[in-house]
Amino acid sequence: MVDAPSGAALIRPSAGLTPVAPLLSFALPHSRSGRGPLSLRRCFPSSGSPVPVKEPSIKRENQTETKGDDMKTEIKEKLEQLAIKKSIPFCYSCYRQAPTGRCKTCGSDDLMREMPGVGCEWGTDWIIREILSTELTPVNTEEAFEESVRQCYPETVTVAWMEMDTVSVAKEMDPVSWNVAKAEWESQEADEGNIISFDHGSSYYWTSDLEAL
Ligand SMILES: [Zn+2]
Repeated sequence: MVDAPSGAALIRPSAGLTPVAPLLSFALPHSRSGRGPLSLRRCFPSSGSPVPVKEPSIKRENQTETKGDDMKTEIKEKLEQLAIKKSIPFCYSCYRQAPTGRCKTCGSDDLMREMPGVGCEWGTDWIIREILSTELTPVNTEEAFEESVRQCYPETVTVAWMEMDTVSVAKEMDPVSWNVAKAEWESQEADEGNIISFDHGSSYYWTSDLEAL
C-alpha cells in the first residue's frame, strides 16, 4: 500500500487510468480470496474437482432440506433399529425382561429397554448414544479440515526468504479466520451428508462409519 501512489502515478500517464483503478485492481483480489467463508466454500467442492460457485450463500440459507437432512433421517432410523436390536424390553416394576413386548408377570406393555451389561432406561436415545460412543470415533474436525486446506492450497507459502507450511502459517497468523472457516467447512460437510452430528455440532461422525454399523 505504501508503494501504491508512486505505482499509480507511473501507470497514469500511459494507461490513462485514474489513480484509484490500479490500486483497486491490486487490492481487491487479495482481500477477497484471503479470508472469509465465501472463498472457502468455493474451495471445498464435494466432488473434489474445482466447481465454480453455483449457489450464492443466500440461496443456501433459504434451503430447508439438504442432502444432509435426508441422510440424517435415514441414519437415525437405522440407529433406532440398531438400538432396538441391541436391547430387550424390560419391565422395571417386576424387574424382568419382557422380550415379547409385554411383561409375562404383570401384563404391562409400558416397558423400559435393557441393554445387557449396560443398564436399563426408557426410550432408545441413550442406547444410540451408547452405540455411538463405544463403536465409533468422532470426526477429528481439526485434522479433517486441515487435510481439506492442504488439498486446496499449495503445501508451502513463501514468507520473505522462508518457505513455510501453509496450514501452520494460516492457523498461527489468524486463528479467528481459521476457526470461522473450519466451522463453515463443518456445516458444508454436514449439508452434503458427509458428516453427521447428533448434538447440534459439538461432535460429528462420518456418515460412512455410521452406514457401516
Ligand atoms: Zn411386569
